[in-house]
Amino acid sequence: MRQKYTLGHLVYELTEACNQNCSFCYNHWRPDGSLPPDDRLARRTLNRLLKQAHIGNISFSGGEPMLMGNIHDLALKCRFKGSSVNILTNGTLLGDDDFFNFKNIGINALQIPLLSSEKEIHDHLTGLPGSWEKACNSVRHALDALGADHFAAVLIITSRNRECLPETLGLYAELGIRTVMVNRFNLGGNGLKNRGELSLSREDLNAAFKVVSDFSLRHPDMDFVSGVCTPVCVLDPIKYPGIRFTSCSTDITNRPVTISFKGDVRFCNHSPFVLGNIWERDIKDILEDESVMKRYAGIPDQCNGCKLYARCKGGCRAASEQVYGTFDKVDPIIEA
Ligand code: SF4
Ligand code: SF4
Repeated sequence: MRQKYTLGHLVYELTEACNQNCSFCYNHWRPDGSLPPDDRLARRTLNRLLKQAHIGNISFSGGEPMLMGNIHDLALKCRFKGSSVNILTNGTLLGDDDFFNFKNIGINALQIPLLSSEKEIHDHLTGLPGSWEKACNSVRHALDALGADHFAAVLIITSRNRECLPETLGLYAELGIRTVMVNRFNLGGNGLKNRGELSLSREDLNAAFKVVSDFSLRHPDMDFVSGVCTPVCVLDPIKYPGIRFTSCSTDITNRPVTISFKGDVRFCNHSPFVLGNIWERDIKDILEDESVMKRYAGIPDQCNGCKLYARCKGGCRAASEQVYGTFDKVDPIIEA
């Protein structure tokens, strides 16, 4: 029998559908609409995936994963297979039973975006009136039911919410949040339509990260992590010691490879390019295909000879795929 492939981390998109319409949403299918949830296919594709690979950590994403009727069963299945499970939700559809079930299943982390201390700004960004209230309630509930070690707030910094950053960070501390994923607005999906409204200048982006880093240094009990890679010539992690920056690896076994409920495999959740489908080929064959390796091996022209390339890799080049249709160009943020 064929040996199982091993992946450290994988994002599983349970559905394309979502009850919000965030102006910054990077889901590449978003501007053209989304398919309705298909619980049966999502379950079958997950079964197939778990037969093909051992996965260290699996993040349930979407769209909005809580639109799936059987999400607890799917999470439990992953736990039985030895994977830890994260749930990336907008927090507006969670009920008492969900927290109870996630606690019993042993969810590793629940992640909910709380985009501002001001409800009008949060609701404007999500496109859903009342979403701030619901997200806040879910954050409180999650901290209570799962504990602060199993919860992370998500903060996407845009020009809309940057001015109230100090108050937003204060709200996090007041709520008892200890882990914050802090990401810059990254171009893709709905964000392409709204780049004029949401993009930050380099100065404003750096000023915002300084606010977060300084806050973090004053609150050593809180952990701030930034996961969207940014060109070092735009934002240099060394200047922000309060934030832990994770970088993108082109080593496929060590990056958030993404699979949709249909079985389509992509380089990461931001990339729109489909490498293959696990209903047609084994995931190992898809990811180890020479053409895949080659696709991600190039250095953008703009970065040729740059001494910073080893720690920068040209920023988020999945954003380049969304904007220019190619991985071979430097992150489009460089134009800001
Ligand atoms: S960012 Fe998340 S919550 Fe917002 S529309 Fe996209 S999938 Fe839905
Ligand atoms: S590698 Fe490219 S994107 Fe990164 S710092 Fe150098 S020129 Fe900028």
